[in-house]
Amino acid sequence: MPLLVAIDGPAGAGKSTVANRVGHALGIPYVDTGAMYRSIALLALEQGLAFTDAALADTASSLGLRFYPSGEGQRVALGTRDVTDAIRSPQVGRAVSKIAKLPGVREALVHAQQGLAQSEMAGVVMDGRDIGTHVLPGADVKIYLTATLEARSQRRHAELVAKGYTGTLEELMHSLHERDEEDGCRQVAPMRPARDAVVLDSTVLSVDEVVAMVVALCQTRKARARVSHHV
Ligand code: C5P
Repeated sequence: MPLLVAIDGPAGAGKSTVANRVGHALGIPYVDTGAMYRSIALLALEQGLAFTDAALADTASSLGLRFYPSGEGQRVALGTRDVTDAIRSPQVGRAVSKIAKLPGVREALVHAQQGLAQSEMAGVVMDGRDIGTHVLPGADVKIYLTATLEARSQRRHAELVAKGYTGTLEELMHSLHERDEEDGCRQVAPMRPARDAVVLDSTVLSVDEVVAMVVALCQTRKARARVSHHV
């Protein structure tokens, strides 16, 4: 039986690192839904398109995004172009929540995400903001991964500085906070824990500890599903 794992939570909580490692541990693919919204934001910025459904919903329904493994991580390609680093730029980070509010863009991406989950025989780990609430409401395991704004900003700042970012920690904290506000207050599929999600606060936990907890939870659910299947 396929195992569907939903990991939601605010910006910089470590969702993608955790989801990627949980996917490896369980032998199922990881789908980074934030990369889909970020890719549309990148195209809109590069092509000077308006942040409206009229300008972007068609792009969303024919995005042609591919994920492929590379060493420890995962890379993202739009057609033949590798956009892994471009979609993580601060400019894209500032634009993406404005695009993620658009109902037509969301509808197209949710449809693609549900199709991806259905096409994987063994299941998927999917991370985002609305996976447990809208994309995979029947997921076997739902995690809402969070941490204080300070901890999230410090981790993200260290990551970006290693890639040459010169902005201050305060600027980054401000932009994460703004993004969380926009994602949590929008009308369509706002970011929030599903009613049946396990809320994990990673402020004082290491990545290894969070991964071990999520993997253990997935294994328990899988074992339980196997038993009830045989009864
Ligand atoms: O996960 P990541 O930080 O890459 O997501 C970037 C942005 O994409 C989020 O801040 C949010 O605006 C949007 N997003 C979303 N729903 C998802 C995944 C991402 O609205 N499932």
